[in-house]
Amino acid sequence: MLDRFYCPEPPVDGRARLEGDEARHLIKVRRVVPGESVELFDGRGSAFRAEVVELGRDRVELAVVASLPTSRGPACSLTLATAVPKGDRFDWLVEKATELGVARLVPLVAERSVVDPRAAKLDRLRRAIVEASKQCRRDVLMELDRPTRWASLVGSSRESVRLVAHPGARGIAASGLRLGGASAILAIGPEGGFTEDEVNRAVEAGWVAVGLGRTILRVETAGLAGCSTLLALAEADSGSSETKGA
Ligand code: SAH
Repeated sequence: MLDRFYCPEPPVDGRARLEGDEARHLIKVRRVVPGESVELFDGRGSAFRAEVVELGRDRVELAVVASLPTSRGPACSLTLATAVPKGDRFDWLVEKATELGVARLVPLVAERSVVDPRAAKLDRLRRAIVEASKQCRRDVLMELDRPTRWASLVGSSRESVRLVAHPGARGIAASGLRLGGASAILAIGPEGGFTEDEVNRAVEAGWVAVGLGRTILRVETAGLAGCSTLLALAEADSGSSETKGA
């Protein structure tokens, strides 16, 4: 399996160019030589096999050899709207959500929130999303939104399935949700939890409160446990096209 590199610029006349971090990685870490093949992906769903043509100081020119078939995305377009855990636990959450196939992550600001990531941190996390996508061979990058207030997200979300995780609510797998082909959003509160008022307002606006098990999970555990359950339910709902196609 060939190593992947992120090339957001579309190839021109069959030529692609890597610059900056990606080029330096190819030159200094991978020590590629002209003629070697790698894979390029643009983070929007297209991927190519390409051959190194020329190496500059921090620039690599490549010739596109073939378009690669795009991999099947998850069975449901899932947004994780989550309060931000402290320190590197948020970095970890962003990396793992990327691997799982979450389509979009919204950092949530709720009444009891204590962390509100700055723009510089979000830029660094976007770089981490690229790295995780390369490693897990994901073709479309996870979107990372700017921090959003829970109160405004409650009213503005348009996903067909809107869930707010709240300890004590009915279990997510027992909620009878139909997820195959749907768009869904799962909200996770801060360490202090959502206030009752925050949950009630969401339920009044059509959100469904769901439980994630009998123990109280940390923010990042709750997000990942909820997302992997929802993606598995969506996969089961979609009738497992893999077996049909086999
Ligand atoms: N003391 C808080 C716990 C917050 S845990 C309280 O009792 O509400 C942080 C967030 O993770 C919660 O707001 C919720 O969204 C989610 N969460 C953690 N454990 C959960 C569980 N067992 N069921 C549903 N949501 C859970």
